Amino acid sequence: MKRVFVLATLLFFAIAAQPVQAQSPNQRIKDAVAAMGGADALGNLKTLSLKATAKHWEPEQSYVAGGEPRPLGTSTLAIAWDLSQGMSRTDHQHKMDYPFPGDETYSDIVGPSWGAVINDKGDRPMSPNRLAFELREQERASPVLLLKALGQPQNVSSAANQKAGGKTYPAVAFNDGGSKFLIMFDPKTKLPAGIRTVEDDVIHGDGVYDLWLADWKPAGAAKIATSLSWKFSGLAKLDVTYTDIAVNPALPAQAFTVSDATKQAAKPPANGDVPWQAVLVSVNFGRYDDLQEEKNASGGIVMKQADLAPNVFQALGRSHNSLVVAMKTYLVVFDAPQNEAQSRWTIDAAKAKFPGKPIRYLVMTHHHMDHLGGARTYIAEGATIIVGSPDKAHLMKELAGAHKMHPDALQKNPKPVKIVEVKDHMTLKDSETIEIYRIANPHVEGMLTMYVAGPKIAWVTDIYSPGRESAKTPANAQYLDTVKKLGLTPALYAGGHGASVSQADAMAMLAK
Ligand SMILES: [Zn+2]
Repeated sequence: MKRVFVLATLLFFAIAAQPVQAQSPNQRIKDAVAAMGGADALGNLKTLSLKATAKHWEPEQSYVAGGEPRPLGTSTLAIAWDLSQGMSRTDHQHKMDYPFPGDETYSDIVGPSWGAVINDKGDRPMSPNRLAFELREQERASPVLLLKALGQPQNVSSAANQKAGGKTYPAVAFNDGGSKFLIMFDPKTKLPAGIRTVEDDVIHGDGVYDLWLADWKPAGAAKIATSLSWKFSGLAKLDVTYTDIAVNPALPAQAFTVSDATKQAAKPPANGDVPWQAVLVSVNFGRYDDLQEEKNASGGIVMKQADLAPNVFQALGRSHNSLVVAMKTYLVVFDAPQNEAQSRWTIDAAKAKFPGKPIRYLVMTHHHMDHLGGARTYIAEGATIIVGSPDKAHLMKELAGAHKMHPDALQKNPKPVKIVEVKDHMTLKDSETIEIYRIANPHVEGMLTMYVAGPKIAWVTDIYSPGRESAKTPANAQYLDTVKKLGLTPALYAGGHGASVSQADAMAMLAK
């Protein structure tokens, strides 16, 4: 008897010592569906016609490194959504302010087996990566995602509590075809608060991509979120607000109609290793190049080497460039655009042309992600990064992030991140002299321009694109004036975009 009592006591304390029994994952889904109006109400949502406004941001195009995300522009959207087929058509009217100011009007059709993009030039198939991305985001934002999870209890499992913005959310995992969504819940309302995927980004490394849901409003007998906000590891990317909701309208017959040629050429969504965040950046910029993606996928990276002097060459990418300068005993590279693939090409070309010289410095004109994405490859080579003030603190953090999901050269071969900050002016000198100046400009705080003294080559990015710009702008005029005031006399201007032009050509441009 005593033994039984002791055992019972032990058992009691063992149970009491357990944390409060977590709610079962399927119960959480059930409660959320109930909070959204119930399974019947959600099941009755067959089609939606939505009008919406959108705001686009890119955090790593900020004016100050680590500062407010750069607003890229706004859009109005008209969405025809067949929820039962998982198919939608969105008519986009983008008013883009950055990086390509102008209006962009197009439509896209996103479905489980094909997608298309339609503009004033006609229609064309959506590239497989873009389709995979759009399809996943359509699914993430679908008002019937939780109803689907409710019908597939075998694909729902428990997940650790998730943290975001200083809050902790109970969560469950939902394996939805190729996507693993972590559904985070508002403990008070039981509604889904956010839908998370775990993924990485070329600049930040391993992170999370979240859709935050708010402003729940009636849609028929159901409730749907009308404020949708996508963030990468807490950084603003895209906000969509539904301004007008029509439930179960007859969708226009031609909503999903495209030409036979496009229908035949259309490919299914990519599966496997989709560069999610890279796709998002291009879509957000309003200039997704579906055709180029195809070319890159089949042909690999295409770059050219332009020899500008016996000890200097420009590594020309499709849209972004670097400059390689051979000093007596080491190499210096200006800018590290895009990603590891572009850095690899540039480093291999540098080592082939100037064998035996290590890359000692990578000098960054500025912190924007499209010129910084390949910087970690240079750190893995042992290079020290030179940046304009006040970029050091932000870049120390950025460049040291974990990249375990897609290990890059630095993840595989860890080296300390070494950054030198230029407050005003710095010189690198042995057989060659490189002058580095921090200059005033409209693009960012802390912009650097570089001058290779021997061959008289000035390097400039984003405020002047030599060879690409044919007329005077406030930015290029200010830059060329700054060069003059610094007492520099370039024979050539070479850039992070465009190619290179002579001093005479640059001056002729100013006259236009
Ligand atoms: Zn920039």
